[in-house]
Formats: sequence, structure tokens, C-alpha cells
Amino acid sequence: ALAVPDKMVDSVCPYCGVGCQLTYNVKDNKILYVEGRDGPANHKRLCVKGRYGFDYAHHPQRLTRPLIRRADAPKRVDMAMDPERVMEVFREATWEEALDLVGRQLTRIRDTHGGKSLAGFGSAKGSNEEAYLFQKLVRTGFGSNNVDHCTRLCHASSVAALLEGIGSGAVSNPVMDVTKAEVVIVIGANPTVNHPVAATWIKNAVKNGTKLIVADPRRSDLARLSHRTLQFKPDTDVALLNAMMHVIVHEGLVDEGFIASRTIGYEELRQNVDGYSPESMAPVCGIDAETIREVARLYASSKGSMILWGMGVSQHVHGTDNVRCLIALALMTGQIGRPGTGLHPLRGQNNVQGASDAGLIPMMFPDYQRVDNPAARQKFEALWGVPLDPQPGLTVVEVMNAITEGKVRGMYVMGENPAMSDPDASHAREAMAALDFLVVQDIFLTETAYLADVVLPASAFPEKTGTFTNTDRLVQLGRQAIDPPGDARQDLWIIQQIAMRIGLAWNTADVSEVFDEMRRSMPTIGGITWERLQREHAVTYPCTQEGDAGQAVVFTEQFPTASGKARFVPADIIPAAEKPDAEYPNVLITGRQLEHWHTGSMTRRATVLDAIEPDPVALIHPLDLAQIGVRAGELITLQSRRGKVSLYARADEGTPPGAVFVPFCYYEAAINKLTNPALDPFGKIPEFKYCAIRILPG
Ligand code: SF4
Repeated sequence: ALAVPDKMVDSVCPYCGVGCQLTYNVKDNKILYVEGRDGPANHKRLCVKGRYGFDYAHHPQRLTRPLIRRADAPKRVDMAMDPERVMEVFREATWEEALDLVGRQLTRIRDTHGGKSLAGFGSAKGSNEEAYLFQKLVRTGFGSNNVDHCTRLCHASSVAALLEGIGSGAVSNPVMDVTKAEVVIVIGANPTVNHPVAATWIKNAVKNGTKLIVADPRRSDLARLSHRTLQFKPDTDVALLNAMMHVIVHEGLVDEGFIASRTIGYEELRQNVDGYSPESMAPVCGIDAETIREVARLYASSKGSMILWGMGVSQHVHGTDNVRCLIALALMTGQIGRPGTGLHPLRGQNNVQGASDAGLIPMMFPDYQRVDNPAARQKFEALWGVPLDPQPGLTVVEVMNAITEGKVRGMYVMGENPAMSDPDASHAREAMAALDFLVVQDIFLTETAYLADVVLPASAFPEKTGTFTNTDRLVQLGRQAIDPPGDARQDLWIIQQIAMRIGLAWNTADVSEVFDEMRRSMPTIGGITWERLQREHAVTYPCTQEGDAGQAVVFTEQFPTASGKARFVPADIIPAAEKPDAEYPNVLITGRQLEHWHTGSMTRRATVLDAIEPDPVALIHPLDLAQIGVRAGELITLQSRRGKVSLYARADEGTPPGAVFVPFCYYEAAINKLTNPALDPFGKIPEFKYCAIRILPG
């Protein structure tokens, strides 16, 4: 007989930024099944991850005791994960012993080498409250701004361009606005795979007459529904987008009233795009001039056009330039500030928006108040009661480089897995192995935790209460449904215990108290009370006063810049940092797949999801497979200047000839060993979407 739940707990999906609300059905501290709730972003819909990706929480490999590395256990960066042999590397410890050791080591490094010798990576998988306390611990306890998280690897370039251009790094309109748009451009994103429920709203919009333009070097599933598909050459976003703007300018399709009243810098942009005629850009980007013209006209002249983008746009050394072009398209046509228009960078993790808002980034305090702004610093010094470092800290990849230079000696990593997610992952692993001290707080012995001196067993998503902010700027309440296993503890408690052991006079605060402190320092959420979240489950920000409804569509009258106006920033073509050559003739594109999430630590331990996609795969065009004499399903080796992996070939006509697409979730074929750590100079995001490789049979 089917088990009957003894309780039902309303919460939020732990995976992507769509932020679907769900209900955990629980019996005897076990989640039996999950159902979709009627949340603003999902209206009861869930994708395969939301519905079946929950039993990782009950996996036998969950960490249940603090672990301390044995003195004689070498840090092997090429390790094959073997959970059965964990005790050869670590020994179990009490919380008291483990936390005291963490406190002693972090204090020793800070007091000997200074605050900048420590760094912390928080997590977009944690709650807003965890992100807030984590960055506060680093800034006030370590004494530097060396705090970052995986936003650096996903939309940092988008945020850099958005803050520069329109004064806010968040979306202008919610995903659901696609149903109000006449034209929707989806560029460099594959929502059917990465934001599946958002993709269903796009599909619904198309069914009701919205014209969908899909622009991506890979042809995605969504392209089947598109009015036009622009399968442009990898690395040519700026060429394509500048050519579209050229058409809009030359055909008089600009919104002169909007440009005059709400923007600055148009003349410089106009002159710049003059050199990018569709005819001259067609051979560069691989899209014929007439199609560029047609799409530009459609976008500019509709009553409402919306642009959504993903990491195909942002993960380039010219990621910020790509987004500058998207912003300019919206501004020159006035396609922003109304329902059914606007700019929407689709957020990856379920709380990457909130973690960034809460200050888990090295150059900003909570609410994007710059650390090098004296007024902002004074405000947080008054709130937190200690002097703060006026210099922006190091970003994710910069931290790894600083370790190899001997500048960073100790790290606290909470819920992130840079051994799998960083570019040139072997370098990242060697760097972390070289640290004087590494403490990792996680729910599994991840590839990063395997390199740690101390591992602290944390709580999984359904084991804690906190707020999470989705891609639409919707602050939602996730509620605890089950207890953590064994001696695993709530992350909020662990952060505070470490804070106290490095000399911070903190009292243990409840999650709602932490949220209240956040509200006091973050004007955008100042009007959202804990009681309201408990009552309504979700409130959109900006919500500055109690009782405000919250604004789903922003920039209706002005932009949140000093002048109230948005700024055009011209962009020119900058090539990828590593182009194919005779030695490495192919292009590697990395990303995600539907069933697995990021580095796979959760979804590869979810029974149904792992059963659907159990093995590492590389998606390759059949012509390329034929050329190397390999059949689909056979093993191939991919090699770059930085490393090589072997995995199974999967024929995919959507991947352009010459390119290979590989998900980064497979530890046994960790594709980030191959990727290029070259950074976008503004967002400091690595170029995951383009590096040179060669493909070998076997
Ligand atoms: Fe979860 Fe995203 Fe799927 Fe919704 S679309 S169920 S938030 S993974």
C-alpha cells in the first residue's frame, strides 16, 4: 500500500531560479513525494528535477558527523571519489573539537598574515539569511571583502552591465510577462533544460500568438516553436546584436522620445553601430543580412518586446559587452518599463539573486552598496560595530590565483564545489590543496570537501527554514520539512558558531531575527516582514514600506541611477581568449542538462534523475563523429591545453559542427579541467562557453 504522509510542508524547489513553490509530503522524517503549489512563478507546475529530485536528502552518503583530516592523509587532487574509504582520509570528531579547530586555525592565519589571507565562498544554494551572515562573518571576522559565490560563474557580467547601464542588476520584468509580449527574444539560454517551468510559459505565449526568436549557437528544443531561429556562430554575439541595432537606427525604428527623456549616451552608441551593417556582419556571425533585418524590425516595432538571456551570453570574456548590447537594444526602442517588455537574465541557482542581494560578493555590501563608497561603509560599520575594509575583495577565480601566489592561506567554503565548478579545475584543486587550512561545510563529501582539513555536516534544503529570492525578484519562504540526519546541523547555527570562535561577539540568532537585520540594511526589502512572508509565502521586491504590494515591473518612470536615466554603452567585437588552431581545432561549450544540477552533488544522488542520466556524455554533431570514426555511445577523449577527460559520445544535430557540448556535473569526467580561466574584465566571469579542444576516439 502507498504510504500516507503524516505532514505536508510548503516550501520552494531547491534547484533553478524559476523558484517553483512545492509541497513536501512527509512521513516519519522522510519525504515521500513532492507536489507543485500555486506559487506566482509556477502555478502548480514542476519540472522533473522539482518533482523527483528530493531523495538526495535521504542518501546514505549524507555527512552526519564532523570530520577532521588525518595528519598523514595526502590531499590528492586527482582523486577518484570513494565514499567507502572516507575514514582512511578523515576521522570523526565532536562538534566542539571540529569548531574549536576551525576557530583556532582561521584566527591564527588572520592574526599572522592579515585579514586578506583568508577568503570565503558562500552559496547560492543557501538561504538569504545564510548568505547575509556568511558575508558579514568574512567582512567583520576575517577583516576583508574576500567573499564570493557562484554568481561569479554565471551572471556576474550581466550584473556588471546592468548596474552600469540601468542601475540595477536584477530583472526588469518577471518571466510570466512573456505572456504579455508580442515578441520574445531568448538568446544564449536553453530554458527547456535549465528553467523548464519558465519554458512552459514561453510555450504558452507562443501558442497565444507571441513571436519567439531563439538565438543561440546550439539549436535548442525551444527552437521548434520559434518564429525565427538564429543559430549564430559561437563567440559572435556582439556582431549579431550590433547589426540588429544598425538596422534599427538606419530604418528609423528607434524610440526618439524614450531616448531623449530617459537615456544618456545615445549618440556615441549610434556612431558605433554605424560600422556594423548586417551585410558586413553576416559572414562574421553566420546569419544572413535579411534575417537580421527582419528580426530587428520585429523586435523594434512590436507593442511589447522582451529579451531573456542565459549563460550563453554571460560566460565569455566579452560577456559584459554582450549584455551592454542587449540593454542598448531595449533602450533605443523603448522596450522596457512596461508589462511585456524588458530585460530578464534568467538566474541559474534558486537563490543566486538573493545571495547576491545579501552581499555575498566582494565589491558590494548588501543591496549593492559598494564597499569603496565611504557613506555605505559607514552605514555598515555602524550596524555591525566594527571597522570595515574599504577595498573590494577577490573574486572566485582571483582567490584561486591568490592561493598559488601565497596571498590567500585559509578558506571557508559553504555549500559550493569549486573543485568541479571552477575553470581549469585542476588548478583550482591544486590551489585548495595548497592552503594552510580549508574548512568545508556541506551535505556530502564533495570533490572540494575531499581536499578539506575539516568538514562540517550541514543541512539539506528541506531541513531548514529561510528565504530564497527567485529570478523574478520574488522573496519566498522555504520551510523546514524534515530533521537533518545524525549530527548534521543547520548552516545558520554553524556560521554563528564559527563567528564566535574567531572573536565576534555574536549571539545565536534565529532565522527571523537575521531576516530583520537584513531588512534594516537593505532598503529594497525594507517593507517585507517575516510575518507577511509566513502569511503570503512570497513578496516581490522592491518593497520599501510595509504594506507595499511590491513591484513586479520596474523602471516604469525612471531608472535607479544618480540621474534617473539609463546609459548606452557601446561595444565592439572582442574575440574569445582561446581560438581553435591546428593543434586544438574544436570548440568546447559547457553547461547543464535537464536532469542534473550544476556539479551533480544532489541530483546524481537523486534516484530517478540519476537513472535517467547516469553517465557522462558529450554532445557532438554526427558529422564530427563520422569524421573521427566514432559511433554514438562510444567513448571519446576531449583534450585542451589544461587537461583531458573521457566520456560517451552522444550524437546531437543541435550542436554546431566543430563544437562539443558537455555538462559539468560528472565528477568522473570533470569537464572544467579543460575550460579556460580567462576572465571578462568587468564581471570577472570565466569563459566557460568557449575554449579550444581536440576530440580523440577512445
Ligand atoms: Fe525546480 Fe526550476 Fe524545475 Fe521549477 S523549473 S521545478 S524551480 S528546477
